[in-house]
Amino acid sequence: MSSPTLSEVTSCLAGYDPDALPVRDAQRIISQFIEPVGGVEDVALLSALGRVLAADIISPISVPAHDNSAMDGYALRGTELDAHGPTTLSVVGTVYAGRPSDTVPGPGQCIRIMTGGVMPAGCDSVIPQEHVAAITEHSITIAPGSIGIGENRRFAGEDLMAGSAALKSGKIIRPADLGLLASLGIGQVRVRRRLRVAFFSTGDELRSLGEPLDAGCVYDSNRYTLFGMLTRLGCEIIDMGIVRDEPQALEAALRDACACADAIVTSGGVSVGAADYTRDIMAKMGDVTFWKIGMRPGRPLAFGRVAANGHTAFLFGLPGNPVAVMVSFYFFARAALLRMMGAEAPLLLVKARAAAPIRKKPGRTEYQRAILALGEDGQQQVHITGSQGSGILRSMSEANCMVVLHDEQGNVAAGDMVDIMLFDGLV
Ligand code: AMP
Ligand code: MG
Repeated sequence: MSSPTLSEVTSCLAGYDPDALPVRDAQRIISQFIEPVGGVEDVALLSALGRVLAADIISPISVPAHDNSAMDGYALRGTELDAHGPTTLSVVGTVYAGRPSDTVPGPGQCIRIMTGGVMPAGCDSVIPQEHVAAITEHSITIAPGSIGIGENRRFAGEDLMAGSAALKSGKIIRPADLGLLASLGIGQVRVRRRLRVAFFSTGDELRSLGEPLDAGCVYDSNRYTLFGMLTRLGCEIIDMGIVRDEPQALEAALRDACACADAIVTSGGVSVGAADYTRDIMAKMGDVTFWKIGMRPGRPLAFGRVAANGHTAFLFGLPGNPVAVMVSFYFFARAALLRMMGAEAPLLLVKARAAAPIRKKPGRTEYQRAILALGEDGQQQVHITGSQGSGILRSMSEANCMVVLHDEQGNVAAGDMVDIMLFDGLV
């Protein structure tokens, strides 16, 4: 089956208007148009952190492999315990972790056992040593009711059974997964090849670091935020620098990017006015559409696929304003790039209490930069970080989350619950 064209995808959408497109419609169109890229490689376990698993991992062994003790203590048969008076058992051996014992305790006997030690045959319970009423050289005495039958025994396979699915294809490998794979004895994993993403900034007013800042010019900051966001996603990045506001320069940059990348992320040059020649070039090079999205910050976005010399690449033409480029990246490009990588990592919005009223117009989605912190009452609350202009990058830098106010929402009152997207989790 050949890939759909953008117009085939958008024709399925009721009331499609590229000049007034709701955020969720844009997200839906992008996800339907985007396709995963092929290619896998085998990497050593320590190189797999942050990579996308290319196949299900079926557990080759049970973890743990044997029933074992969860405590340092004494392994015994629960039926030996007297419910009404003290029980004295003689200690007939010791089991250390990694050194199983063949000794089978008989009636009136128990075995000293360390955490992780294999449960001796016939034993079903472990009394932790600190719960033993009295310990002599060769025996222990247990008070009635000190433990229940079956306590402190870990079962073989309780973490993972041999033959069961341990990790699913598409999982982004995190520290726990590295440990889990190691626990299965797996030292090499098949992962998707890294996604290659080329990016550049557009604008005659942009200066690179190290250049003098001429009158009316600004330093190119978007390439740095894009570098950070793409690197965090685990992409292989191709930094193409600044492209002047000239049709030939844009066309040449897109051609070069097509030749080496799976996706191209640009910033600037897609807003009204600037968009005219961008639109012509992009239309000439492929299947690209220009949207005005019902959102703030953001709004202009170019999306599609470009082709040159037999290579194609998905294109995300993000707005130029420094906050808008980040918001558009997080809410449109991120999910698409992850989908191209074959990864499953939905954006998680969580609820938080608004510390103060927030003004909001219904009919568009607003992404307000905010700080989630403990209030005086000890409860978490979220408050907006000062000025929300789409060029004010400080609002983003100071924030630890964004409040997402959806299309239909209006003003928020202090104390209302709102959706937020946290910037950082555990890394
Ligand atoms: P544009 O979308 O190209 O009209 O740009 C909108 C605004 O964002 C202008 O004020 C630009 O100067 C600014 N801008 C565009 N690209 C960048 C960039 N790479 N770094 C910093 N500011 C930028
Ligand atoms: Mg520009």
